[in-house]
Order: sequence, then structure tokens, then C-alpha cells
Amino acid sequence: MAAAGSPSPWHVVRASRLLDGSGAPAVADPVVVIHAGRIHGVYRGTAPASVPADAAVVNLPGHTLLPGLIDAHVHLVLPGDGTPFETTVEETDGVLVAIAYANAQRSLHAGITTLRDCGGRRDTTLDLRRAQRLGYAHLPRLHLCGRPITITGGHCWYFGGEADGPDELRHMVRSLLKDGVDYIKIMATGGGTVGTISYLPSYSEDELRAAVHEAHRFGRRVGIHSLCADATRYVLAAGADQIEHCNFLADGAGRQAFDPATAEAVARAGTPVTTTLSVGHYIIAAMEHEGRRTGTERAYVDRWRRTFENNLENFRTMHAAGVRLVAGTDAGWRYTPFDGLATEVALLREVGLTTPQAIAAASSVGAAAMGIGDDTGTIREGLAADLIAVAGDPASDIGVLRRPAFVMRGGEIVRASA
Ligand SMILES: [Zn+2]
Repeated sequence: MAAAGSPSPWHVVRASRLLDGSGAPAVADPVVVIHAGRIHGVYRGTAPASVPADAAVVNLPGHTLLPGLIDAHVHLVLPGDGTPFETTVEETDGVLVAIAYANAQRSLHAGITTLRDCGGRRDTTLDLRRAQRLGYAHLPRLHLCGRPITITGGHCWYFGGEADGPDELRHMVRSLLKDGVDYIKIMATGGGTVGTISYLPSYSEDELRAAVHEAHRFGRRVGIHSLCADATRYVLAAGADQIEHCNFLADGAGRQAFDPATAEAVARAGTPVTTTLSVGHYIIAAMEHEGRRTGTERAYVDRWRRTFENNLENFRTMHAAGVRLVAGTDAGWRYTPFDGLATEVALLREVGLTTPQAIAAASSVGAAAMGIGDDTGTIREGLAADLIAVAGDPASDIGVLRRPAFVMRGGEIVRASA
């Protein structure tokens, strides 16, 4: 029984439909009973008589209940408003923590209850979580790698994770684990950082192998950024647990050389791939919106158009080959916003996923890839009460995912605009 004056630890949430995040089709008239922040049971029609009468009831007629969403690839310390990376990293760590706080809040209000951060500067993301644990920040669950490991002068080197050669990589993994990271992130190719090369491997297979082996010895997973086929083969050989982007760049002009043998090897290994299709989508949208005219800017957006179209086609092929796709946006990078996961889900529909599969990519598949599937990612008994509701039916209009009417994180109602 709840003490006088304090709210009941019980909630009953009713809606018209439920997509549980497992990839299964929707069921009608769900009733989700929540006790002390966790899902006590999922029923149809009515709640069991054993639920106390003082339970808080949330009625959401016409709405679809979904698990709290998971964005599996964000950079909390970056603004996502078009500011160049090289400009943002001139700010102090304190400013970056404040940016991260605002970004995480925006995600939570968009129904994203778990964020997997793929790299920030020094201890900034870990500091944000420390503040969260002290009760100063009501934010999504944070899954953190701290600073990403990169070659000297490599992609995101400003974040402070430079390491070269197997011994330095082992040392960097150990020092990150000492700092309290949840997983290890490595840059196996260059990327959008000025001066880095996206279409060539940065690390040798031996270097990646040393880092993955060390992380696994301590029971931590490894996600590796790869933008070319050669690097992806090294990533697979090293036994990494997740591949970020998995592009097939062949040159500096955005051309890709899709390699079916590499894609099949990814499918065979069962290694999940984080899609980050949003990056190209938002760059193209922003550049069109701003009516960019200079020759350099036109060339930039043309290159991104090519990369984006190639990525859609490549992911169609990979999905058909059985590659496990995880929804991640790369929020923070260039123009990618922190409330844009619904766009990634819509793009996954274009790649060939059904609506329940695309939602699973942004919930249970992401949670399983991170090793937290026993805690979140589906609506089922025993898991954290991370759930959202959207007005209407995502199967007929995936756009409804952009505006959740109800957001609950660990049993706490974050948003209830219905
Ligand atoms: Zn990224």
C-alpha cells in the first residue's frame, strides 16, 4: 500500500494497439501494468483484479503503445545544427557537457529512452552520467564508450582517444574500462573529420584484434566505425560485436564499390550493423533548405546525394542477405538532430523492413546488440517500464512516431500531452 500522500507505485496504461518491439505484429486493446518502475504484466482488455484500486490509470484511446526507443548511435557533445566538428571542439569540456545535457533531454521528449553514445571528448559523457546518477539530470539511459579509439590524427582525434599499435590499443582499452565505460568504440577508417581518409583502413587487423581481445577479456563489447569494405573485413576478423555505418566507400568523391562477399560475411557472422542513414538525409535536406550555391557546397551535397543513394541500395541488399540492422542516427554529427530517430525508422522501411521490424531495429534489436535486452527494448513482464504512445497507427503512417503523446522512462512519466 502506498503511504498517505505519496503516489501509488502502480500504473495502468491502456491503448488501442501495442507493438511490443520484438518485431511481432500489433495486438489490440493492450493493458500494461507497471509496478515500481518495471513492467508487472501485459494483458488484453482489462487489468487483473489484483492491481490495487489506487493505481494511476492512463487511458490512451486511438493510440499505439511501443517500447521506449533506442538510438544506437549518437554523439551527445555535438550540436547537430550544422556547426562544423572542428568548431565545436574549440569549446571547453564544461560547455560540451551542457550541450550533451540539452541533447539528451530533447531525445527523451522524442520518446528515445536509451542512447548509445559513440564518442565524446575526454570524460564529458561520463561526467553527464555521473550528474544523472546524482539526481541532477532526468535523461535517457546512457550507454557510453567515453572517447573513441582512433589512430594518431584519425577520425575524431580531438576527443582524446589516439592510440597506435597493439600495445597502445590494449592500454587505451584498459584505461577506458578504468574510467567506467560500458563498451569500446574504435574508428577503423577515417570519417568526416578534416584530413582523415574514409575509404582506407586506419588500423591493421592485428591492432583491431588486440583491442577486441582485451575488451572481451573484461566482458565488454566493441563497436567499430567502418566506411570501407577492407576495414569491415578486418573488423569481422577481429571479432567485433557491432559495425557502425558499414559503407563501401571506394574514393574521396563518395563513390561506393559494394562488395557482396563482404556483405555476406557480415550476415554469416551475425554482427549487427548500425545504419545511420539519417546523416545523409539531414545534410541533403539542410543544404536544399538553405539554397546553397557556391561550387564547393554544391559538390559537397552532390557527394552526399551519391553516398546516401548508394547506402539505401546497399542496406536493401544487406537486409535481403540477412544482416541484422540496428537503428542509429549519428545525432549530433553535422545536421542530424537528437529527435530524428523516427526518420531513421522511416528510412529502414524504404530499405525493406516491415513496420514491426523497423521499430524492432529501434528497440529490441538495438538492446540485444548492446547486451541490455533483459532490461529494456521490449514491452514484456519484468523489463524496465520504458514505453511510449503515439496517436494513430505506425503501420499506416510511420510519421506518427515523430510526435509521441506519452513517454515513460523507468515508470516515470516524462511526457503526457494526450
Ligand atoms: Zn558517429
